[in-house]
Amino acid sequence: MSNERCVLVVEDDVRLASMLQEILESEGYAVVVVHDGQRALHEGLSWHFDVLLLDRGLPAIDGLDVLGRLRDRGVTTPALILSALSNPADRVEGLDRGAEDYLGKPFDIDELLARLRSLLRRHAATADTVRFPGGLLESASRTVALDGGRVVVLSERENQLLLHLARRPRQVFTREVLIDSVFTDADDEGVVDTYVHYLRKKLGRSCVLTVRGVGYRLREIS
Ligand code: CA
Repeated sequence: MSNERCVLVVEDDVRLASMLQEILESEGYAVVVVHDGQRALHEGLSWHFDVLLLDRGLPAIDGLDVLGRLRDRGVTTPALILSALSNPADRVEGLDRGAEDYLGKPFDIDELLARLRSLLRRHAATADTVRFPGGLLESASRTVALDGGRVVVLSERENQLLLHLARRPRQVFTREVLIDSVFTDADDEGVVDTYVHYLRKKLGRSCVLTVRGVGYRLREIS
């Protein structure tokens, strides 16, 4: 579970979107699907994804505009553009505007999966920069840049806890799971509550939500 990669799929063709979701999930990816550029921006600015799969031709805000706006806001998640516009000039435009890869439609599903794996391999080194609602965690330096401009330095354990929560959009974590994955040397589940308390003190009370009777997750600001 903890190695599951998260993909944001942006595709206005609902049938294609659900086909992609089904295939990607069967390959072990966690998938979030949205059908328009507005939602794509919201998701991309709020949550961490390991890779973006972006249709170019979207209503209102097209895929390249979505990508440009995400890049302007500091989102470096690798992006693969899918598009019916696939002559060399179209590909060049896509790559110049921030995409890491570009695949013409119709596409071969095995090629798409191979390109996603390749993107993930190439970008593994940057995987410790994680966006979450309200800020950006740079895990290597244990610093959080909050959207309001404040920069907060975390302890290593706070860093590991936030990294774990932020990598799994919307997932609720039990104390037991967090002990197993973050606080492996602790034998008391109270340590989770303690570090959640520390995170709230540093980042704001609302950053971690208590899900009564279950555990914790990061809060979505909408
Ligand atoms: Ca489309």
